Amino acid sequence: MNENPMVPDLDLPEDPAVHSLSGVASMGRAVVPGEIDVSHGTILYLEDVTVSFDGFRALNALTLTIDAGELRCIIGPNGAGKTTMMDVITGKTEPDSGKVFLGQSIDLTRMNEPSIARAGIGRKFQKPTVFEQHPVWENLELAMKTDKGWFASLRARLDREAQARIEETLALIGLESEARRSAGELSHGQKQRLEIGMLLMQQPALLLLDEPAAGMTDDETMQLAELLNHLRGTCSMMVVEHDMEFVAALSGATGKVTVMAEGRVLAHGTLDEVKKDETVIESYLGR
Ligand code: ADP
Ligand code: MG
Repeated sequence: MNENPMVPDLDLPEDPAVHSLSGVASMGRAVVPGEIDVSHGTILYLEDVTVSFDGFRALNALTLTIDAGELRCIIGPNGAGKTTMMDVITGKTEPDSGKVFLGQSIDLTRMNEPSIARAGIGRKFQKPTVFEQHPVWENLELAMKTDKGWFASLRARLDREAQARIEETLALIGLESEARRSAGELSHGQKQRLEIGMLLMQQPALLLLDEPAAGMTDDETMQLAELLNHLRGTCSMMVVEHDMEFVAALSGATGKVTVMAEGRVLAHGTLDEVKKDETVIESYLGR
C-alpha cells in the first residue's frame, strides 16, 4: 500500500514472468522519433569538435557518428575527453568550434540543457540520483511527469496508459517485486537500473551512459548489460565504460567500439579489432 491517499495503488502483476521483455519496443518512443530526422541513418553527428580549458584541449577536433538504433561503446584512458564529449552533447559545455547535431537538422550547439533533454537526449551520470524517500514506482511516475511539476504529478490520477508504462518499465529494469519499497532501500545496482528506468520514462531517442557499471558487483554488471541489450530498438545508446567484460557483453562480435585518447578518436572497430590496434595498445600502456 502506498501512504499517499491521492495516489492510487498500482495493480502490479504477481508473477514477474507474466511481463515479458518483448513488449518493450512498443512502449514509448520508437527508434525513429518523428521530430528527429534520421533519414540518413544518423542519430548523432559530431564534426571537428574542440573544447579547451585554459589552453588545454580536452576535445581536439573530435569527429564521431552514432547510427540510429545503435548501441555504441566508447572506451579510452582517463582524461581522454569522454565525459567532456557528453557534456558537449547535453549542452553542459559549449564547444569552441565544431558541429554537434541530433539527426540531420537539430543543432545542439544552439540549445541549452533543458531543451536538449526535451529534444530526446537522456543522460545517466555515474552516481545514481533517485528520490530516496519515495517508492520505486513513484520515482518512475515522477520521472514521466517532470513538465507538470512535483505536486501536480503527485496529485494527478494515473491514467491507464501511464500505469501500463510504469509496469512495463518495472519489468524491464527487473524491479517489479521492489515497486513499493523506498528507492533508498535498493542496492547500488538496483538504484542504477531504477535511474535508467526513470530516463526511459522520458522516452529518449538517445541515451548517454557514463560509466554505468562503476561500483557494481559482477552480477549487477551483467544484469545491466542484459538490460541495455534489451533496450536495443527502443533508443540509441552511447555507453562510456572501462569494464571490458561489460563492453564485450554489449558490443558482441560485430558491434562497433570507439577508442578515444587525447580528445579525439584513436581507433574504431569491433572490440577484437581495436584491442589488436597498435596505437590503442600504446595509448593504454603509455599511462
Ligand atoms: P574522461 O571522461 O575521458 O576521463 P574528461 O572528459 O573528464 O575525461 O577530461 C578530459 C580532460 O579535460 C582531463 O584532462 C580533465 O582534467 C580536463 N577537464 C575536464 N573538465 C574540465 C574543466 N571543467 N576544467 C578544466 N579541465 C577540465
Ligand atoms: Mg569520465
